[in-house]
Amino acid sequence: MFAPMGADAILPGRSCGSCTMCCKMFRIDALDKPRDIWCRHCAIGRGCTIYDSRPDECRHFHCGYLFWPHAGEHWFPGRSKMIIVSEMEGTLLTIHVDPARPDAWRQAPYHADIRQWAGWAAPAGHRVTVFAGRRAIVIFPDRDVDLGILAEDETTLVLCHRTPAGMQLEALKVKVDDPRLPPSAREADPPGAARRTA
Ligand code: SF4
Ligand code: SF4
Repeated sequence: MFAPMGADAILPGRSCGSCTMCCKMFRIDALDKPRDIWCRHCAIGRGCTIYDSRPDECRHFHCGYLFWPHAGEHWFPGRSKMIIVSEMEGTLLTIHVDPARPDAWRQAPYHADIRQWAGWAAPAGHRVTVFAGRRAIVIFPDRDVDLGILAEDETTLVLCHRTPAGMQLEALKVKVDDPRLPPSAREADPPGAARRTA
């Protein structure tokens, strides 16, 4: 549903422009840069000072704002302070929130958008999760489930229960080797790891 796309799919009129948010919020292993601190090579709001020799992790990354038409112009990360990422082969939409603005996702019109996307995702068994640093909030069409801070060896799991009243969704915090997780979620980088992937 939230399939990742390459540079050739960037929407007309969309570009990074003055945004450098992923140079702060994401891990860059090639530079030994942790998440949520500015890269030492970033000219904030202007761009990369080593553009021609930047690591492949940077070169191949495109956030959801650039290619996903359902994210309106207000999702420009330089303004929203949030980065949309498609993970787990398009079955998970992750919204990474700048720790300096941890409640940005709750504000209008963003929260309504996120709930709408959760409504689209649920029938397909897909899901939407907000990450504010290591704090995970699973978004369902009718509610937000704050799972708190995830340890490095923890991730999120959504269970779907059939009940007489219909399908009930449950969000849990689990260890990354939990056998109930799909194989792609039991890898070294669980969802929300804030690592750049193309
Ligand atoms: S967050 Fe998106 S728009 Fe901003 S610099 Fe990174 S890829 Fe470009
Ligand atoms: S190397 Fe350049 S593109 Fe990559 S994180 Fe640093 S400033 Fe951003």
